[in-house]
Amino acid sequence: MTRVCAWCNKILGEKDGTDSRITHGICPACSEAAFEEIENFVVEDFIQRRSYEAKINKAESRIC
Ligand SMILES: [Zn+2]
Repeated sequence: MTRVCAWCNKILGEKDGTDSRITHGICPACSEAAFEEIENFVVEDFIQRRSYEAKINKAESRIC
């Protein structure tokens, strides 16, 4: 079994196994980059949600 990084396709090594399938993992460099990406995404998502809620609040106050 060959382990390949799902992000950069770098071969991470061979894993014992009878089949020759490729299994995906993540190399240390890509896991760092991926976590940074996830953090940025979460922050962006949070900001977007806040501005969305602010829009809803404005719309509601207009109705009331
Ligand atoms: Zn990688």
